[in-house]
Amino acid sequence: MKRILSVTLACTLASGLAGAENFTQVNTDKAREIIAAAVEAHGGSALIDDLQTLIIEHETVTYAVDQSRAAEPPWDKNKDVGIDALDIDASVFVTTSENNGGGFEARNATIINGDESYQLDYRAGTAAKIAEPDFATTSGPFVRVTPGLLIRTLNDRAANAYYLGDTEVDGVSYDVVGFSMTVGPAISLYFHKKTHLLHRSERVFPGFGLVEYEFNDYKVADGIPFNQTFNLFLNGYPNLERKNVAMKINKPLGDLATVEPTLMSVAEVQPDPLSRQEIADGVWLIGGNGTYVMFVDMGDYIFAAGGTAGIPERIDSLREVVADKPIRYGMMTHHHFDHVLGVPAYEAEGATVIAATAHEAVVRRAAANADSLNVETIDDRKVLQTDTRRLEIIDIGPTAHTEHLLVAYLPEAGILFEADHFALPAEGPVPPAVSSTKTFATALTRQELDVSKFLSAHSARVGGMDDLRAALEAKLYQAER
Ligand SMILES: [Zn+2]
Repeated sequence: MKRILSVTLACTLASGLAGAENFTQVNTDKAREIIAAAVEAHGGSALIDDLQTLIIEHETVTYAVDQSRAAEPPWDKNKDVGIDALDIDASVFVTTSENNGGGFEARNATIINGDESYQLDYRAGTAAKIAEPDFATTSGPFVRVTPGLLIRTLNDRAANAYYLGDTEVDGVSYDVVGFSMTVGPAISLYFHKKTHLLHRSERVFPGFGLVEYEFNDYKVADGIPFNQTFNLFLNGYPNLERKNVAMKINKPLGDLATVEPTLMSVAEVQPDPLSRQEIADGVWLIGGNGTYVMFVDMGDYIFAAGGTAGIPERIDSLREVVADKPIRYGMMTHHHFDHVLGVPAYEAEGATVIAATAHEAVVRRAAANADSLNVETIDDRKVLQTDTRRLEIIDIGPTAHTEHLLVAYLPEAGILFEADHFALPAEGPVPPAVSSTKTFATALTRQELDVSKFLSAHSARVGGMDDLRAALEAKLYQAER
């Protein structure tokens, strides 16, 4: 349910500052006054300035908005238990996460520590070096949800802060100050008029909408008030609910920032520029940066499978090898938002978009013109047969990831294109199967599909039946930390 906030714009800025000699000067002074009170309320400047390390343990529930098994609300809720740890002067940031939801189970960590930066996977037992660690970008999300760190950053950047006015939200009065961090859009911070504690913040992403953060249930730990709850809303809808269960200040990060020697070292994650692989005669996997499309030459026309990001560039690449044949079909594997981004591109090509019947509404909403989009819905399966090729579109759902999943299957070549069920890492061993992969394997058996090559919407690496078997048989590493 969308929440409704009652907001009263009191506009003291206009009234209170009217007639001021210099509007900018008065505004800047007012912002500084509010920041000073906020610093005091959040532990005082000595404590805030001396803040060296911060470790927060939390439990989070995320709403799988447009990423649930069903196409419409109520959304699935996914659970995550994790730790964020920051060493400010050393520019070290560690984030760990043990989560499950959507047919995925993960236990991983990211360590940003200069040349010793790693991505750790505790299910697979691997450590991949991060080639270009970016401390500000990686730690930014933690800073934005941690009032003490936000206040510290605001204080450091007070010179570019501005007073936005005061306002009332649900009967509580706030002073609002805006400022910019080094990356991302400007943030508006809402300080309680009486306690001067930070209770809300907002950012607006052009083309996407409003992100609201709420900080509540303050309790003092080591002299610094810390919020025991944190909620995030996207365009007014709940998106994430977090409980902070423990906080440590100025304690060494210790083991959190070190890589256990028993983890297997795998190749560093490399940039993945757009590439085109011809998998079989007239069958291409084109993509890069984690999203891929299969194009099949059907003789008179092209069939495309997959609707992830960057479809126009992938079509451009196809045009280098097949200049003249129209794209007649664009198949959407499922309804998740990152898998219907390509709908407008197929629409612009004049193609018919193929989708599971249950996903038609989502696919139409993704189009430039919902009413005129040509959609062909699939309840069970559809066969495209031409003089040169047989292609089967099969709904192999339900799986642990989605109630319906369309795969494109080429029986002669034994090629199957899927999304979100069996993506191989670019390098290294096949990781242990998640629930999504297990239910995918079961569905293949049920449908009696004889596959020799798995193409995935999220992998440039083509898998085989051996890889699927290896995933199902792989043992969990799961080191405790
Ligand atoms: Zn998905």
